[in-house]
Amino acid sequence: MRNGQSRREILASSGAALLAATLPACGRAQEPPKRKLGYAIVGLGSYATRQIMPRLKDCEFAKLTALVSGTPEKLERFGTEYGIPKTHRYSYANYDSIRDNPDIDLVYVVLPNSLHAEYSIRASQAGKHVLCEKPMAVSSAECEAMIAAAKKAGKKLMIGYRSHFEPYNRHGISLVKSGFIGRPRLITSEHGFNAQPNQWRLDRPLSGGGSMMDIGIYSLNAARYLAGEEPIEVSAMESTDRSDPRFRNVEDRIDWQMRFPSGALAACVSSYSSNHNAWRATGTEGWVGMEPSTPYDGHQMWTRKKGKTEQVTLPAPAKNQFVAQLDHLAECAISGREPIVAGEEGLKDMRLIEAIYRAAREGKTIRVAKA
Ligand code: NAD
Repeated sequence: MRNGQSRREILASSGAALLAATLPACGRAQEPPKRKLGYAIVGLGSYATRQIMPRLKDCEFAKLTALVSGTPEKLERFGTEYGIPKTHRYSYANYDSIRDNPDIDLVYVVLPNSLHAEYSIRASQAGKHVLCEKPMAVSSAECEAMIAAAKKAGKKLMIGYRSHFEPYNRHGISLVKSGFIGRPRLITSEHGFNAQPNQWRLDRPLSGGGSMMDIGIYSLNAARYLAGEEPIEVSAMESTDRSDPRFRNVEDRIDWQMRFPSGALAACVSSYSSNHNAWRATGTEGWVGMEPSTPYDGHQMWTRKKGKTEQVTLPAPAKNQFVAQLDHLAECAISGREPIVAGEEGLKDMRLIEAIYRAAREGKTIRVAKA
């Protein structure tokens, strides 16, 4: 281990980093809030209803106060289940009237990708803080418009990069930053699954693209947070079987490489036809890796150094990644600080996604402008 440190010392010293890691940089509000801030959830699909809404009851700084959906039956069903009064149930048609509801402080947009920009901007214009799911939007121009709208409203804009609130991923970032692996040389990052047919993810007008927009973005974001620096070059190859009816207008697989200013490289995978969920950061003195790396739960991490591979086990966090993410925006709204994954983070990924698509299309290495 670095400078002769034992594994126990590394874990002990990284334990301090972990403690800090579980309290994201936005910091904790100085005073306990007089009231919990209220979230309106926009889009009552799978992720919102199965992962997000059940977690809001565990939040320290936030609670569920309103629902927005185009389906009256869902508003009735989930409104009853979560005790949301009829006055706090909105359709997309009367969505803008959330501005008149003081019980709504925060809006969480969990719609198909091409609707993120419109519903986030309308929430900002209604004077609300916004949490928007990944990918932030379907173009960098849309991301810029979202950032401008939030700024104009004087409200926060955060992107749903939940892995930034997940202890193992945060620990991985700390280990790389602390020099545990030596000088980072290669980050591999693979994310993919076998996409079910007949869903909006395979319909470009709604998804904005294929696997890259949905799951490859985890490979991209992890490579960036592990490297701790921004890429300067990308090259890419796409492999899509266009005779597969799922892939008529979106890509299946796209693999890409990125070069960072330090000389470290990243090799990334995005797939809609095979399962991948792993990353590894390898440096001059060892590596740290995770598989699975970005699941909802069941994360696993290993390190290797001086010829020894060891599994890392962290204590269960007080707040899981979903609760920590939801609370983070509420804390930032209270304290006035910027979220650790603000709109600018989503914009950086979107600019890189555009460069990756271009690199694959043109078959050449693309130099990436500084964000
Ligand atoms: P979903 O299909 O289950 O839900 C989408 C919801 O949007 C549905 O309730 C649907 O009725 C509604 N909707 C409104 N207008 C629509 C339209 N024009 N066409 C289709 N649906 C429309 O999808 P999901 O899996 O919940 O994904 C929603 C968003 O959440 C996506 O942006 C996705 O990338 C993101 N997501 C994030 C994670 C994560 O781990 N962070 C996981 C899953 C999904």
